[in-house]
Amino acid sequence: MEKYVLASGNKHKLEEINKIVEKFDIELIMMSDVGLQNLEIIEDGDTFEENSYIKAKTVCDLTNIPTIADDSGLMVDYLDGAPGVYSARYSGVNATYESNNMKLISALDSVESSERGAKFVTVITVVFPNGDKIVARGEINGMIGTELKGEAGFGYDPLFNVKEYNLSFAEMGSELKNEISHRALALKELKKKLKKYYGESNENTNN
Ligand code: IMP
Repeated sequence: MEKYVLASGNKHKLEEINKIVEKFDIELIMMSDVGLQNLEIIEDGDTFEENSYIKAKTVCDLTNIPTIADDSGLMVDYLDGAPGVYSARYSGVNATYESNNMKLISALDSVESSERGAKFVTVITVVFPNGDKIVARGEINGMIGTELKGEAGFGYDPLFNVKEYNLSFAEMGSELKNEISHRALALKELKKKLKKYYGESNENTNN
């Protein structure tokens, strides 16, 4: 069974990504399995593509094992794509989900609803020791609310409203969100690209 390292310490991501890669008989292992649990990677790229590549490439170079990494964030039209790659630390080094949401509400204060468009983006990158690379991107469009709505999820979920459902991500609950989210779409794309990379016949259809 081939192994991939996940360049993240997030167990939730491990589970989500594992559901996809296990279909290709790939075992996903964590940074701690390869002694890199304390590795700090400087994510200084300008795009989600660059940052996910920096993470995957760094760990692949250190381990010589195919490595998978993701990078996500929120891009707001009125703010020219901010907070983008700075989504986690939008309100500063000690940012919390709450302080980020408050900053976003203020930044869009008295902005008309027609100008409150935004999208969530996820990019997943796999880097192989032979230099091969797979990149999968998922995006979902929405509108930034004027107030927090809903309790579920994390991050900007209470401010991100999806028009088709007339609900914020935080009002949807995880089941619906995980079907339509930027992460879900990137994972679908990853599955397609892995199929192509390994050849259709290699997918273990029992999973
Ligand atoms: P990461 O790259 O997945 O760690 O995401 C970076 C940041 O983007 C998070 O800290 C959140 O602020 C924001 N973000 C990414 N995905 C989501 C989401 O699904 N809901 C809300 N916020 C998100």
